[in-house]
Amino acid sequence: MNEIYTINMLQTASKCLKKYDLLYNKKIRLPDNANFAKTGSRLHSLINYYFKGQNVDKLAGILDENERVLWNNFKNMVPGMPLASEYPFFVRFGDVWLTGRMDAVFFNDGKITIADWKTGNFRHGREESFQTMFYQYAAYVIFLKKAMIYDFSDVSMVYFLLKDGTQLKIDYDEAAFSDFENSFKIILEKIKNGSYNNISHIHCEACEFKNLCKDYLL
Ligand code: SF4
Repeated sequence: MNEIYTINMLQTASKCLKKYDLLYNKKIRLPDNANFAKTGSRLHSLINYYFKGQNVDKLAGILDENERVLWNNFKNMVPGMPLASEYPFFVRFGDVWLTGRMDAVFFNDGKITIADWKTGNFRHGREESFQTMFYQYAAYVIFLKKAMIYDFSDVSMVYFLLKDGTQLKIDYDEAAFSDFENSFKIILEKIKNGSYNNISHIHCEACEFKNLCKDYLL
């Protein structure tokens, strides 16, 4: 059993264990949507360099029109300088490790805010809520240990929706967190047991593997 998990691994396994097996055990990779990936990666790099105090004029100069709108919206919304940008973490969850990278972390008035830059359309559904809990849990473990916060309620997550210049703030929610914790444990148990053929077809239509997945083509 893999002992280190990213949010992408857990989200994938929660949707389809067969897909998890193809991606993370068999390591089959299909090409991304190049344009979307390029915009996301450019903006994230630009924001990171900006926070690190580097001269970003050259990089900003090669943005296309759509990317310039995202960049200007970011500059209008940015809530000051963060405690850290592109913050990597490793935290324990039961007998496994969770790992990832927060886009930025802000610390003000005894509260931690995790920032996530979104360059495309965004909706905070169950899948995204899974991601929110994952990062809030990691921030809670890290900053409690550093004695910077005292309670789970001192951690929130803000999605910066750069396309329309708005923000979505998600505070700690005990019921949602308990649901997340249980879901994580169930998913990890299924991975541990290698239950990769126990699949649901709900996500097949949108799955990039559907043209090579025997379970879909049958
Ligand atoms: S096509 Fe369906 S069953 Fe196959 S990997 Fe994708 S989601 Fe899973």
